[in-house]
Amino acid sequence: MSTATERERGAGNGRGAGSGRGAGNGRDAAGPNERVLEPTIFELSSPGRTGHRLPPLDVPEIDLGAAFGTALREAPPELPELSEPEVVRHFTRLAEMNHHVDRAIYPLGSCTMKYNPKINEDVAALPGLAGVHPEAEGEYAQGSIALLHHLGRLLCEISGMDAVSLQPPAGASGELAGMLIVRAYHSDRGNPRSRVIVPDSAHGTNPASVALAGYEAIEIASGPDGRIDVDALRAAVDDETAAVMITNPNTLGVFETRIHEIVDVVHAAGGLVYLDGANLNASLGVVRPGDEGFDIMHFNLHKTFSAPHGGGGPGSGPVGVMAHLAQYLPYPVAARDETKAEGYEYYMDYDRPKSIGRVHAAYGNFLVAVKAYAYILTLGPAGLRRVAENAVLNANYLQKLLAPHYDLPYGGYCQHEFVLSASRQKEESGVTALDIAKRLLDYGLHAPTIYFPLIVKEALMIEPTETESRESLDRFADVMLAIARESRESPELVTGAPTTTPVGRLDEARAAKDLDVAWEND
Ligand SMILES: *Cc1c(COP(=O)(O)O)cnc(C)c1O
Repeated sequence: MSTATERERGAGNGRGAGSGRGAGNGRDAAGPNERVLEPTIFELSSPGRTGHRLPPLDVPEIDLGAAFGTALREAPPELPELSEPEVVRHFTRLAEMNHHVDRAIYPLGSCTMKYNPKINEDVAALPGLAGVHPEAEGEYAQGSIALLHHLGRLLCEISGMDAVSLQPPAGASGELAGMLIVRAYHSDRGNPRSRVIVPDSAHGTNPASVALAGYEAIEIASGPDGRIDVDALRAAVDDETAAVMITNPNTLGVFETRIHEIVDVVHAAGGLVYLDGANLNASLGVVRPGDEGFDIMHFNLHKTFSAPHGGGGPGSGPVGVMAHLAQYLPYPVAARDETKAEGYEYYMDYDRPKSIGRVHAAYGNFLVAVKAYAYILTLGPAGLRRVAENAVLNANYLQKLLAPHYDLPYGGYCQHEFVLSASRQKEESGVTALDIAKRLLDYGLHAPTIYFPLIVKEALMIEPTETESRESLDRFADVMLAIARESRESPELVTGAPTTTPVGRLDEARAAKDLDVAWEND
């Protein structure tokens, strides 16, 4: 791979950020490796140009001003004027400016950016599903409610939980619902308790959900093998412990092998055990959280069950519970009354006096649930198990290829992801995890998650997912090796990256608030 740089950036990639865009745009003469910013659609506008012309009127023309008077706007709206291909090319260029999973591997650890099968979109676009009113009930929505009910049952079967509410719109929202259920449960027993224990490898949403639910988050340190230190847990648990939140496999990609012991410690003190189920991709069809002893969990339908996510798009974070907590689930819950005639037996159940209440409008993000349902049914039980097996296989394959070239603080077999460290590169040549992430963009690949989990210095958290082929994994590994070599031999290439993307390094705090990024480019 000594030629990786040239090959990947030139012919091999074929869509280096600048190439093609300059030519297709026709407005600037930028060469293949120069950055090109796409003009706004208003800047592309030419007066009088249009994509469609209406046929001549076949009814008498009326004077709208006379008919509608003051309701009529005084000046025509300032809409951009372009031909249809100009519009299509503009949006296609915009779409290509960012990385997406339809283009190449997206190994963003913890986020499970797997390929989303297009059949999910076809199913979600069916007029009977896409067009149903969000508050439709009873005979007008039997199919939709049946789908939600059946999806809930499938999630129970997959997880070993007894009941599910599909209301929460994201994983973090599922966590908050879970923590409110913890509070409702303990309050019913006379004391809500005050503390929730969270391992130091947890996702940041965990302590945030704990705090929002009015609890104090108590952090416990991981052991040297990256797992929960059971003695530290035992010392931290007491009769003020409302719950312990656990991610399994955890964010280091390590399975908590002592999970039964952990659960017993917490239950013995009267606490509940919560599973952050964002990493369910690693254990689908292999291990069920309900069998491991968890009381509550959330699912990320947009991770494990392949609904597209990112960019703030809609998600779904159903919360599942064991029977003793079912009455606290957020409502409405899709339910079935088998005494009713067929075709009328499904309903949304609001009659849940102990419920923590609503956590989202309508029934949650319905079409995300539809995509997850299509995904589960197209794969079936054996297919779901193979998802987990291949996710773990792919991660271990990649870990093996990369481990000699980067530090691997928590070694051994991993689950669906693993965490490298760029500490060696930083020490040798000042190249950081951030630099490596930026350099990957120059090769047309998405960066892994960086600087998380917090307990790994210069962390590069890599989750290839099961949908990557061996060739795709090899290519990612080749590029990572090329970057490791560049870091030694010509670190300025890495610290100066990216050079081929539409914009270079942004002031990230400012870029999130000021969407006009042109200031950065020159
Ligand atoms: C993604 C993730 C979450 C939060 O889920 P969102 O759907 O992004 O709110 C929580 N925990 C872990 C481990 C995650 O990976």
